[in-house]
Amino acid sequence: MRFASLGSGSEGNGLVVESGGTRVLVDCGFGVRDAAARLGRLGLVPSSLTAILVTHEHSDHVGGVPAFAARHGIPVWATFGTLAAVSARFEGMSHVYGFDSHDGFAIDALEVTPVPVPHDAREPVQYVIGDGARRLGVLTDLGVSTAHVEASLSGCDALVLECNHDRELLETGDYPYPLKQRIAGRLGHLHNEAAAEILARIDTSRLAHIVAAHLSQQNNTPELARAALAGALGCAPEWIGIAEQATGFDWREL
Ligand SMILES: [Zn+2]
Ligand SMILES: [Zn+2]
Repeated sequence: MRFASLGSGSEGNGLVVESGGTRVLVDCGFGVRDAAARLGRLGLVPSSLTAILVTHEHSDHVGGVPAFAARHGIPVWATFGTLAAVSARFEGMSHVYGFDSHDGFAIDALEVTPVPVPHDAREPVQYVIGDGARRLGVLTDLGVSTAHVEASLSGCDALVLECNHDRELLETGDYPYPLKQRIAGRLGHLHNEAAAEILARIDTSRLAHIVAAHLSQQNNTPELARAALAGALGCAPEWIGIAEQATGFDWREL
């Protein structure tokens, strides 16, 4: 099993996970040509994707999905709530599959476990994706953690974990007050310390990879995110990967 990122942040997200010939793209917040170019950097062509999994209807996650899926004939999976929110954009698309945010399912060799999260969307989920031997937990776009989130992520072999903002940089920065309130709220985004607290509470004994993701360009730095997560894990900051907006991150093997 291996995984890589096309890019991560409020300007677009995409994560590829593959095992045994099955290859899924989690979200596509990039245009058709941009997404293909980003896949190309990882040595992939769009037609090699088995499916696209959507986390929620915000445009940095679903914005590129309809055009990209239609162009390349890729099936799309999303919660019923997400599908209700994007129905106009998905009109006329074939091979769109809905699921309930509490029900797991399989896409060929990959076991997909949706994880419902508190976020300001209709039925947002994140995912734990496994192949029977290894499990990758993906957790971005949530305001606060929950017992269910932590039970789901516990014991994973790899984690891609939101470190959206540093609380002080957000508070003292020049975002408009309502936007600050939204980001810091219970249905907003996870700050570095909250991400670190999740790591401190779950079983990380199998953890072979951790990547900080969805970093705010304005309200965070890779150094702050690394320091917070490394503090929780008791590891060197350099061991913490960063999912960059422009370049994502390269393949990581499990
Ligand atoms: Zn997002
Ligand atoms: Zn979102």
